Amino acid sequence: MLWSKYFIPTLKEVPAGTEAVSHQLLLRAGLVHMLTSGVYSYLPLGWKVLKRIEMIIREEMDAAGAHELLMPAIQPMDLWQQTGRDKALEEVMIRFKNKKGQSMCLGPTHEEIITDLVKSFVQSYRQLPVTLYQIQAKFRDETRPRFGVVRACEFIMKDAYSFDINIEGLQKNYDAMYGAYCRIFSRCGLKPIIAEADTGAMGGRVSHEFLVPAAIGEDKAKDESGVERQCIEVGHIFQLGTKYSESLGALFLDEQGKQNPIIMGCYGIGVSRLIATIIEVHNDEKGICWPQEIAPFTIEILPLQVKDEEVMRVARSYYDELTKRHIDVLMDDRDESAGRKFNDADLIGIPFRITIGKRGLTEGNVEIKIRASNAVEVVSRDSALERLSALVAGE
Ligand code: ATP
Ligand code: MG
Repeated sequence: MLWSKYFIPTLKEVPAGTEAVSHQLLLRAGLVHMLTSGVYSYLPLGWKVLKRIEMIIREEMDAAGAHELLMPAIQPMDLWQQTGRDKALEEVMIRFKNKKGQSMCLGPTHEEIITDLVKSFVQSYRQLPVTLYQIQAKFRDETRPRFGVVRACEFIMKDAYSFDINIEGLQKNYDAMYGAYCRIFSRCGLKPIIAEADTGAMGGRVSHEFLVPAAIGEDKAKDESGVERQCIEVGHIFQLGTKYSESLGALFLDEQGKQNPIIMGCYGIGVSRLIATIIEVHNDEKGICWPQEIAPFTIEILPLQVKDEEVMRVARSYYDELTKRHIDVLMDDRDESAGRKFNDADLIGIPFRITIGKRGLTEGNVEIKIRASNAVEVVSRDSALERLSALVAGE
């Protein structure tokens, strides 16, 4: 991708009214744009990171045996009345009447919807167990939208639901999801504290929260050394039991021909909250330092003098060769000052940067910078590609 042809509206100044570092960097690096309080657009760079996170989630969910589907955001209120959660979630629900006068809402979560869906298809123990998930926008009229996408009114969640014939089955699915969550967060460069939690408005028996230590965290948890830390909740898993299947009549016939309520679990990840959390953890005074697996690009090529033929010839040769090797490259081909380009590069935080300048080239050298450590290496222009490949491969 060429920067001049792309859409990265970076900002020099810290936007007014922003407290969280992640919020400031999300805006300054041109990742998101606020439409109104708690409601955000994802700009191309932010959308790219979001898609990388979603890809990791999909890989781990699929590997754990869950199947992806997509449910509607528009939901009839009568399903919510059947479980009593029209009251429990009254504060955050965005409700409206359709033209026929039917009470509707925009889904704040999907337990009722999926239970109703599974009820229409599953009759027998032979059709169970099954785990289904989706990645979708959720709507909650939060009293205090805060810290940018950390607490938003429209946000992206991964929600999964398991359906079993007995507690042993539920435990097995719960353990599989627990393991998948550990892998997902680790691949996102996070080390959450896992804490037993309240089941709250969700109901049910056992539940665990995945909490990432960060200054702006609104939850508290003790880390491995027993120190209490402010944390951001990035995921929450529940053994629901039969609360939803009983009130909505999602039953199955067991081997003896007896009817029982399906035993459920539910598993949520705040996908858009994850972007902010990753930035809270991976930043320095100059900007974002993306972990490689979720970075919007892997390498940034930075030619200093875009009007110099030799500089651009070398830059383009790297660009073509890296692209051929299926490495996602961004080339800052803008005719801007070196200072501006360096600052923007540090701000958007691509893991590896290669700088090509007239002076270096006269000695046959280019410069590689590793964003996470800010380490700089001067290498010969002929060995640069091999060095970059090794860095990308984690060597
Ligand atoms: P919180 O306690 O932070 O309000 P919750 O317990 O209501 O969250 P869940 O219903 O468990 O949230 O939703 C699953 C995940 O979705 C949460 O772990 C969190 O990461 C994310 N999430 C919840 N509310 C929001 C929000 N308003 N904006 C962004 N992400 C959210
Ligand atoms: Mg929760």
